[in-house]
Amino acid sequence: MESPEGLERAVYPGSFDPITNGHVDIILRGAKLFPRILVAVLENPKKATLFSTEERVALIREIFKDQPHIEVEAFHGLLADFIRARQARVVIRGLRAVSDFEYELQMALMNQQINPDLETLFMMPSAHYTFLSSSLVKEVAALGGSVRGLVPETIERNLREKFASTSESSSL
Ligand code: ADP
Repeated sequence: MESPEGLERAVYPGSFDPITNGHVDIILRGAKLFPRILVAVLENPKKATLFSTEERVALIREIFKDQPHIEVEAFHGLLADFIRARQARVVIRGLRAVSDFEYELQMALMNQQINPDLETLFMMPSAHYTFLSSSLVKEVAALGGSVRGLVPETIERNLREKFASTSESSSL
């Protein structure tokens, strides 16, 4: 069945530095609602990241390589413009706790202002992941702690390699 215009694909934007099981949970929930999910990896030259944009995109592609309805692309500039260019109308964002709310509300209202056709859909992850963030994962991994079960295996491996090769973790 064809989806109404603009609802064929929802866009899930973020830094994903790196992607965690909380993000994966939201992507899989979104994929139950929309035929396609486009994971949009933010390329922000002003923000230092542990993984480069290319690495973040490649890692997420690897995780979803058997799920062709989950697409991955890098983007920069205004999210509202990117959404329009991809002929989408829905932005998915994850809400973990009240602490996420204020920033997310601001962003959603700003995007609505720029593109009134755009809708932001907030989704809650499984309760297991409400404490989880990319920065916490990086902090634990940098100190040699285990992040098993918190991130996909490929991310676990890549974090280990990253921190084995960097004596100082300046991009936390
Ligand atoms: P950003 O820099 O845009 O906040 P993130 O990669 O940190 O990028 O997060 C992308 C989106 O995923 C945000 O909406 C964020 O609230 C959500 N998110 C992050 N971690 C989790 C998690 N553990 N569970 C559910 N949603 C999450």
